[in-house]
Amino acid sequence: MRLTLLLLFAALLLPAQNPDWRAPFPAHTIAGNLHYVGTKDLACYLITTPQGHILINTGLADSVPLMQASAKKLGFDLKDVKILLTMQAHYDHVAAFAEVQKLSGAKVYATAGDAAYLEEGGKSDPLFLSFANQDFSFAPVKVDRRLKDGDTVKLGGTEVKVISLPGHTRGAAGYSVNGVLIVNLPSVVIKLVGNKGYPGIVEDYETTFGKLKQLHPTLWVAGHGSQYGLEAKYAKKSFIDPEGYTTAVANYEKQFKEKLAKERASR
Ligand SMILES: [Zn+2]
Repeated sequence: MRLTLLLLFAALLLPAQNPDWRAPFPAHTIAGNLHYVGTKDLACYLITTPQGHILINTGLADSVPLMQASAKKLGFDLKDVKILLTMQAHYDHVAAFAEVQKLSGAKVYATAGDAAYLEEGGKSDPLFLSFANQDFSFAPVKVDRRLKDGDTVKLGGTEVKVISLPGHTRGAAGYSVNGVLIVNLPSVVIKLVGNKGYPGIVEDYETTFGKLKQLHPTLWVAGHGSQYGLEAKYAKKSFIDPEGYTTAVANYEKQFKEKLAKERASR
């Protein structure tokens, strides 16, 4: 009995229970036709065009009402989403893909690495190997187009550039639109050394950090509000923060290197 309670408590401490994931956050425009329609921590980006919209990330399975309320506040409707994109095929960003697709008939575009997880609802994701008692699966969706690094997604006069950033998931990606970098910051959530579910994970992280350090965005946002100081920036009404980007990437690289060194030392 005591053990069960203890396990339950441990489960409660996992990020799945972060209350900011479900807390509403004011809808706002970041730049031009790029808008924020996510929760307090789960960033969802709506790129609106006269020919329909692109939605990057959808949050949790039950995030749709909050996202739709945000879209409507800005004068848009999720029914008009034509293309769904993800930054990382983890349930906290893609679990509502199926529902948004049902609502809108949107096509799903994803990198090959994340397409596999999306099509089977995350079941082969090595995340399951790290948290064996947790269910991180989600409603699967069919992927209509496989994206490659440097590809452009075009809709209604807007071009979104795909930046492949593997590591956090095999197909993790960022996007560049209207000069704004939407970056997937590479936090480490699974084993690095000898990860049978993701061979090559260390090399992928290293490639990604190399790439991130070449980018020097003035305007940038990320997959989680907390990763780019959403609350403070929204309060200031300014998302311009070139130094913050350099610091964030350096911090994530430091965490990665420390985790890698620790895992190598304990072998
Ligand atoms: Zn994730």
